[in-house]
Amino acid sequence: MYDAHVHYHDKAFDRDREEILKAVKAAGIDLVCEAGEDIEGSLAAVRMAERYGGAGYPEIKVSVGLHPLYMEAAGADWQERLKELLKCPAVTAIGECGLDYRGIKDEGIRQRQREVFEAQLRLCEEYGLPAVVHSVDAAADTLKILKAHSKVSGLLHGFAYSAEMAEQFAALGWKIGINALVLRPGAKKIKEVAAVVPAASVRLETDAPYMPLIKGSRNDSRNIPAIIEAVNSIRKEAGAEPICQEQASL
Ligand SMILES: [Zn+2]
Repeated sequence: MYDAHVHYHDKAFDRDREEILKAVKAAGIDLVCEAGEDIEGSLAAVRMAERYGGAGYPEIKVSVGLHPLYMEAAGADWQERLKELLKCPAVTAIGECGLDYRGIKDEGIRQRQREVFEAQLRLCEEYGLPAVVHSVDAAADTLKILKAHSKVSGLLHGFAYSAEMAEQFAALGWKIGINALVLRPGAKKIKEVAAVVPAASVRLETDAPYMPLIKGSRNDSRNIPAIIEAVNSIRKEAGAEPICQEQASL
């Protein structure tokens, strides 16, 4: 099994990273896709993958990028630094990148988010890499931008939009990332998404240490089987083909 989106370089794992990664591997998770949130975080993710990836631990694939909520703090040379990171063998994708309009009314900031997002999609085109996209309260602009960069595909991690939108993104070749939100009783929208998206377009993720099964706890990839079970019971009820979380590629 694999976990399509994690942050094991996060400080939440500083005290027991090695133990957790061993436990994750022992629980049958052979591969995790680690995502950076900014340049420093991406560098930490790469270093972590170089240190732990492989024997005794899961294989660790890394995406490096600049998240929309961290872009204001990034130095003017972020693109140059990102390109340096793309040379590391552990790096297989660019992200998290994307749009997050939640609570942001300022059109100037939204515009800058779109520019930073598109700059990273252009890097995907240039380097032939997939993207790991974060998108919140920005469905229409995300769809428009991804349509304008039709050579790029990848993962829409922590998918937060409607089933209808999920089908549109899937039709463009994008994978739909579903996390433990699907286990929460009130989460109607993501349950509808889980029921309709083609099996080949679904990628399950924990987003560790975020998005825990129990609010306030720390999440890790050992929760992947619970997410698989929840998604497949929804799909069974809907008469949809079960998803298989055995082999991963973005
Ligand atoms: Zn994440």
